[in-house]
Amino acid sequence: MPSSSGTRRFRSPLTERPALRARRVGQIIERLQARYPDVQLPLTHQDPFQLLVATILSAQSTDAVVNRVTPTLFAQYPTAQALAAARRRDVERIIKPTGFFRQKTAAIIHMSQSLVERFGGHVPLTMEDLLTLEGVGRKTANVILSAKRLEAWEGGGDPSDGMGIVVDTHVRRLSQRLGLVSSDDVGKIEQQLMAIVPREAWATFSLRLIYFGREVCTAKRPRCRVCPLNALCPSAPYEGYPPWMQTRRTRGMAHEPGHKRKRNAIRR
Ligand code: SF4
Repeated sequence: MPSSSGTRRFRSPLTERPALRARRVGQIIERLQARYPDVQLPLTHQDPFQLLVATILSAQSTDAVVNRVTPTLFAQYPTAQALAAARRRDVERIIKPTGFFRQKTAAIIHMSQSLVERFGGHVPLTMEDLLTLEGVGRKTANVILSAKRLEAWEGGGDPSDGMGIVVDTHVRRLSQRLGLVSSDDVGKIEQQLMAIVPREAWATFSLRLIYFGREVCTAKRPRCRVCPLNALCPSAPYEGYPPWMQTRRTRGMAHEPGHKRKRNAIRR
């Protein structure tokens, strides 16, 4: 196994002992914290309702595009009540740049109607309730529950609200490259991360991985040679393309992120 720094390398994350993995996770968290001491959600919002709408709009889009359309959207529809009563074509025209705009329009209007009918127009801050809303899957619910802690909504954390860990495309890729998980499935990745990341770090762990995935460990050009996690990463000797990820990729496209993209485009 090549090792330019003389640091211990891992043959495969699947053979690593749990105690060693737990120690490595702690070191990864420390280095990410040092690099990104202050993290905040990239989607512009003023309250839970706006963040929920923006997160639904971000499916298959970019945060930058969403942040360009939401000021207009929220100026015209600032509350769940207003959006619940909106005409579809008016909303479609505003959010069109985010893609899948017809499905997303239907989702945010139906979601707003549910908020009005069942939750008094307020966003419920538990996983169980969030998952009953149109267009809301675990990823979106985890974004809301992370923001609840980071921005101290209703006092912040409540261990019984069901929060997990946000797994988006960056978190999925980096968890695999860093050898923290042994699955390609986002649901299993979340469960495996929850088992090894300390609970108090759940809200910020994903955000820091997302920052890092955009800056250093990018999808197409991971900068392994200058990466501050190099000595802790089993993918470093493979320049970010380890055999365990390629094996899963070739085993079946059913696990690829783009598979069934259209059908699941807005439930995340
Ligand atoms: S060493 Fe490479 S694959 Fe590993 S985290 Fe750094 S950039 Fe990503």
